[in-house]
Amino acid sequence: MGKLLIVGSVAFDAIETPFGKTGKILGGAATFIGLAASQFKVKSAIVSVVGDDFPKSYLDLLEDRNIDISGIEIIKGGKTFYWKGKYHNDLNSRDTLVTELNTLANFNPIVPNGFMDADVVMLGNLHPNIQMSVINQMEKRPKLTILDTMNYWMDNTWDELMAVIQKIDVIAINDAEARQMTQEYSLVKAAAKIQEMGPKYVVIKKGEHGALLFHEEHIFFAPALPLEEVFDPTGAGDTFAGGFSGYLAEARNISFENMKNAIIQGSNLASFCVERFGTERMLELQRHEVENRLMQFKELTQFNIELN
Ligand code: AMP
Repeated sequence: MGKLLIVGSVAFDAIETPFGKTGKILGGAATFIGLAASQFKVKSAIVSVVGDDFPKSYLDLLEDRNIDISGIEIIKGGKTFYWKGKYHNDLNSRDTLVTELNTLANFNPIVPNGFMDADVVMLGNLHPNIQMSVINQMEKRPKLTILDTMNYWMDNTWDELMAVIQKIDVIAINDAEARQMTQEYSLVKAAAKIQEMGPKYVVIKKGEHGALLFHEEHIFFAPALPLEEVFDPTGAGDTFAGGFSGYLAEARNISFENMKNAIIQGSNLASFCVERFGTERMLELQRHEVENRLMQFKELTQFNIELN
């Protein structure tokens, strides 16, 4: 079975959308990545940190899905990372109202013994030095290392980010981040520039407008499934990353052709994530629902124009 190592936040989130708001609920990038990846036949582990205010029942939810949580450090007397966000009416943009790093501020990731030889490493959005520390702990170069980041690290830790992206294979970021990283408006030009910075594969997520995959002169595009209802987009990007990395860890085939399938798997799972608050939908997601929606994806994108 393929091994997937995930590093990222495990958090309390509080979310406000035009449809309602939550108190502190289970969140964090690594949580969404792990839940999405658990849809595949992989051995996965999360490396993260929480305080002892983090309910055991939340950790049990992860463990119940066969996610190895021995790499989630619990700091005695510490407080768990807390993020609060409010979405605008169109749900495409949000304001971050609170970011309390708490235990994440001094996070020193320790990769569990059984995962230093992971096939796929998924580096969630964190300080690039933390991402680098995980890379440096690997016994051998993984088959595939994927990285997510955000504007905050570009603004504040550019040099560290540039150092880490030289060591990875795939970067998965959104369109605004790709533009900020390269100062190019054209995503084709931006992807070419990012490939010069290190990663040979560039995934650009465009929210409800789908995702693009770039590699050398090849481009692949997958739409997002047009949904009747989007309730809460929190974690959609991480869920996409979990589907992408989980699928590739299971398939053990990291060709460009198979990465196209990984993009579809990621998009498919993200379409469920947004249907309820936080992790709610991912926690009850059944295999047959995933497969039915994959069929819908196929129908959405298939056509039969004959070319001579
Ligand atoms: P997304 O909607 O894909 O951007 O991911 C949202 C998740 O990222 C939430 O569950 C947050 O807990 C987590 N998150 C937000 N800001 C940060 C940050 N600065 N560092 C790590 N995780 C974060």
